[in-house]
Amino acid sequence: MNQWDMNNDIERVLYSEKDIAEAAKRVGSQLAADYEGRTPVILSVLKGAVLWTVDVMRYMQYAEVEFIDVSSYHGGIASAGEVDLVVDLQTDIAGRDIIIMEDIVDTGRSLQFMKDLLEARGAKSVKVASLLDKKDGRVVEAHVDYVGFDVPKAFVVGYGLDYKQLYRNLPYVGVLKPSVYNPEHAGLVDTTDITPEH
Ligand code: 5GP
Repeated sequence: MNQWDMNNDIERVLYSEKDIAEAAKRVGSQLAADYEGRTPVILSVLKGAVLWTVDVMRYMQYAEVEFIDVSSYHGGIASAGEVDLVVDLQTDIAGRDIIIMEDIVDTGRSLQFMKDLLEARGAKSVKVASLLDKKDGRVVEAHVDYVGFDVPKAFVVGYGLDYKQLYRNLPYVGVLKPSVYNPEHAGLVDTTDITPEH
């Protein structure tokens, strides 16, 4: 067994590369139909939604792409539930139709923060297309208009989703092996301050 292989760290695959390709086609085709005659701004949330964004937008027609980065602190001693704007989008979105592209919606806080921001800036409409919807994790109300998959309450990685910035480039979504959080793990991942809070 090759030790330098990320696949070894995955306990089980939830959504295969094929499953995801089908979901991207389904959601992208639906967006193409729903936005016919309009030129929406696709707002991709860094870094997790990048793969989902590029795969979905291939099925759409006229659309612009922008990026935003928000960080949320789940639990933690400092600011439970606080969301910060890390990278702002680079265009005036007043009067525009916005499609937020998310990797996963969990508590809903990030989404609520972005929706408030976009509405305050005069967006004409704001819809959400998320690869994963973790409905059981909701703390605030947040509706996902276009869903790839309803995901159970587990910590998942792959296809954009990370654990300590790793595993984003796996072509599928899966659940990490508990041994990865274990400090005795072979040292491939820095496990100093961890245990996912999701
Ligand atoms: P929310 O504000 O909805 O709680 O958080 C959404 C963000 O939390 C996502 O964009 C993602 O960064 C992170 N997140 C929530 N659940 C998971 C998960 O199962 N795996 C990973 N890798 N990130 C998650």
